[in-house]
Amino acid sequence: MIPPQDNFPAQLQRVISRFLAEGRAAGVEELGPIAYRLRELPPRPTLSLAQRLSIYQRDGWLCRYCGGETILTQVMALLGSLFPDLFRYHPNWKTGATHPAIISRSASVDHLYPGSLGGSWTEPDNLATACWLCNMRKADLTLEQLGWSILTAPETSQWDGLTGLSPRCGRLPGNRGENIERGLQPCVSLLAGPDGSNMDRGNRGA
Ligand SMILES: [Zn+2]
Repeated sequence: MIPPQDNFPAQLQRVISRFLAEGRAAGVEELGPIAYRLRELPPRPTLSLAQRLSIYQRDGWLCRYCGGETILTQVMALLGSLFPDLFRYHPNWKTGATHPAIISRSASVDHLYPGSLGGSWTEPDNLATACWLCNMRKADLTLEQLGWSILTAPETSQWDGLTGLSPRCGRLPGNRGENIERGLQPCVSLLAGPDGSNMDRGNRGA
């Protein structure tokens, strides 16, 4: 892990030093180049389930930042319903009620160039599969600020986010499979596509 590639510690130290020595105007001058003023942002468009699944499929369910295997969150919910005492799943990921796998491996869609800085919220070229840890760490920073690079989406991936095996869990005798019906089944249907073929894996290499 590398530290962020910005110069904020030294820059902010100069702001405070000059403010103390010369007053507010000097602090303003020093802060000018890195000033961040209030930004009025339009409402953030949400991605549909189908859009998110298509990004995961395109990226082979691998995090485009660290290369780690991600797991569909609905599969985490399924595991929580199958093993409620051993695999804690809380819909809001409440601390103390959430298995660490959910935090480290849940698949998420991240915006390569942050939407808050003007990047597209929905254009596939600006979207990337990210494990939740990388997504949290990246936040609203640019790849340049973090010193990160984006991994190329694999041509083929043996990993499917555990979407292939999990649906069978709900069909086992004695298992009500509530979460299959509620959360996972819509994903499985979308992944299967209207004719049963696998979802299009186009937009490769974005
Ligand atoms: Zn990652």
